[in-house]
Amino acid sequence: MAINYIQNSTVLVIDDNHTNLAVLYDYLNNMGAEVLVKKDGESGIEIAIRKQPDIIILDVLMPNIDGYETCRRLKLESTTKAIPVIFASALMETADKLKGFEMGGVDYITKPFQLEEVLARIEVHLSITRLQQQLQLANQALEIANQKLYKQTVLDGLTQISNRRHFDHYLAQEWQRAVREQQSIALLLCDIDFFKQYNDTYGHQGGDDCLKQIAQVMDNVPKRPMDLVARYGGEEFGVILPNTNINGAIRISEQVCQVVRDLNILHEKSSVASYVTLSLGINCIIPTTEHNVTEFIEIADKALYQAKNQGRNKVCVFSEII
Ligand SMILES: [Mg+2]
Repeated sequence: MAINYIQNSTVLVIDDNHTNLAVLYDYLNNMGAEVLVKKDGESGIEIAIRKQPDIIILDVLMPNIDGYETCRRLKLESTTKAIPVIFASALMETADKLKGFEMGGVDYITKPFQLEEVLARIEVHLSITRLQQQLQLANQALEIANQKLYKQTVLDGLTQISNRRHFDHYLAQEWQRAVREQQSIALLLCDIDFFKQYNDTYGHQGGDDCLKQIAQVMDNVPKRPMDLVARYGGEEFGVILPNTNINGAIRISEQVCQVVRDLNILHEKSSVASYVTLSLGINCIIPTTEHNVTEFIEIADKALYQAKNQGRNKVCVFSEII
């Protein structure tokens, strides 16, 4: 077996027998390990917590607390529970060995031991620990990468609120739920007034900043976890409000328009105000299988168009009679 993990590792030996300690100390020290020795369980636990050894060689028969109890306590302590414990004992009955494993030991060596065997077993467990650590790190990296990927899938890169793709998916899902449960669902579509003129006046960087600020305040208006605010298109935003009737939808719409006005973003080229405003269209329905979601969106879009036609900076619910 290639011996390499022992070098630069820290081994704690807990044994009440001075000769055992001295022999193991010399041998493992020669192999390149830092060796800590303790003659009883309690001081062994104390130094394990403080020094965080890579592995512990633990005698079973000791005064005060025995090796089993020492191991049990090490496994209860959050900072030492992951350190592998190898029992080393003259007790060689199967029941003794099994008790060692029950207490959380990873191995059991019977005394008198061969030093080469002790070293070989230490190597095995250090390599397992190392692999576990690497696996854990790899899993953490994967988890972070997955979260990043998930965000890229559902979030709009510029505004960091939901993107169109997530909006479409969520609306289809909530629409089906509304049909099934015969609940009302509301959709708000809104558009920044005179945004082309805004971009022409303040540049694309200014336009992007404006979109980001608006997205952020809009995203904070609906309070329930089921509500979704998304960037629908260039300067258009969509809000999905499940289980919401027309009065609720109008109230949220007015708040959305208000928080954007409250940003007080200067817009010299707007014909409706001196600051940035929104036009907003609402559609609200208790859908049946006779309805379809495309039409539902189209009607919200018509309501938005009406809000624009009626002078902008306002909320409209679609009506055939204008
Ligand atoms: Mg002993």
